[in-house]
Amino acid sequence: MRKRSVGIRAWARLLGLEKTIVEGVELDEDDAIVVAVRPCWSQRDRCPHCRRRCPGYDLGEGRRRWRALDLGTTFCLLEADAPRVACRQHGVVVAAVPWARHDAGFTRSFDDTAAWLAVNTSKTAICQLLRIAWRTVGRICERVSAEARAGRDLFARLTELGFDEISIRKGHKYLTVVVDHHSGRLVWAAFGRDRKTVEKFLDLLGEERCKQTRLLSCHDAESITRPTAERCPDAVICLDPWHIVKAATDALDDVRRAVWNEARKAGNKQLAKQLKGARFALWRKPENLTERQQTKLTFIQKLNAPIYRAYLLKEQLRQIYHATTTEDALKLLDGWLKWARRCRLEPFVKLARRITEQRSRVEAALRHHLSNARVEQVNTQIRLIVRRGFGYRSPEAVIALAMLSLGGLCPPLPGQCHNPRIRQ
Ligand SMILES: [Zn+2]
Repeated sequence: MRKRSVGIRAWARLLGLEKTIVEGVELDEDDAIVVAVRPCWSQRDRCPHCRRRCPGYDLGEGRRRWRALDLGTTFCLLEADAPRVACRQHGVVVAAVPWARHDAGFTRSFDDTAAWLAVNTSKTAICQLLRIAWRTVGRICERVSAEARAGRDLFARLTELGFDEISIRKGHKYLTVVVDHHSGRLVWAAFGRDRKTVEKFLDLLGEERCKQTRLLSCHDAESITRPTAERCPDAVICLDPWHIVKAATDALDDVRRAVWNEARKAGNKQLAKQLKGARFALWRKPENLTERQQTKLTFIQKLNAPIYRAYLLKEQLRQIYHATTTEDALKLLDGWLKWARRCRLEPFVKLARRITEQRSRVEAALRHHLSNARVEQVNTQIRLIVRRGFGYRSPEAVIALAMLSLGGLCPPLPGQCHNPRIRQ
């Protein structure tokens, strides 16, 4: 086989540059490799927003540099002119370049690598590997996510929606997220948790698609149920199982706290101490209990009847969502409501009242087999990502990271398609 000689053209290949001409390569005073480039003829003088070819305006601020992926162990920079063009629609703007996104200080492959790493690895690993600050990663995520979102219709074939609100800081900011139940993908997220936020999404979804919505899951909040019921007339509203079970866990905690306070006031230190330690045993699913927690539970059964009753009420409500058939589930729900109404534990009586009021929506979740596991999984993932993204200054970056990770918008690593070839 004839070997092709590699000269200046190898640099374009090495850097993953397309539609770009390499003019020269040199080392600068800091020993970084500086590659002088220019867009090929077809890419010159284009508007970065509409890609239309425009008349030149001026030379802008002269030569500019973009950071590219390191070459081996060495920093690498691209250098080129950055002239301005006059677009009919967008006015005077710096001309687009094929190797970088508009307004970016990094090349496209650098951006994509950073976004891929933000989705797939830890904060420290990205920052050290790429030698950039976490805040910079946030800005890159925003750029990459915005471009991916613009190129694709995330609301296509959306018929089963899940709404959720996630608290970001205790008692402060909230994020409203919308998940596609079919694919389990995140399709939209925004800050706020009021009617206006939900309406913003419904506006984006548009009248026609609102009418196509068949199933809608959310928790018991009027800020969501009201506007969605009005705008999506054909959608069945289901109350999210995860939140129903959580309400029961909260009720159990209320009962535990009341008994604990009573014991403390009565000077029963021993009981108070035992109850305080029992919290996790009561919270956990019985199948996940450790041996010690199991002993604790048996102890509570003997020690305090109301708490144990509350525990059984919580567990039984959870079991409803694990019933094998819908009939079984509905029967269990019926039995649970009867029991809870006369259990003489105020938090559970209240919960039973609320569930009775919303019964059709609770039953809808059972009839449509809205899987608790799936909702829970997406919720947990979103919470984790939001917590990671918290170091970003801008809230938009948190949303961008969430969309890249859970909305299927993450770009493949540069030079690899979605199925990378692995060499050993
Ligand atoms: Zn334009």
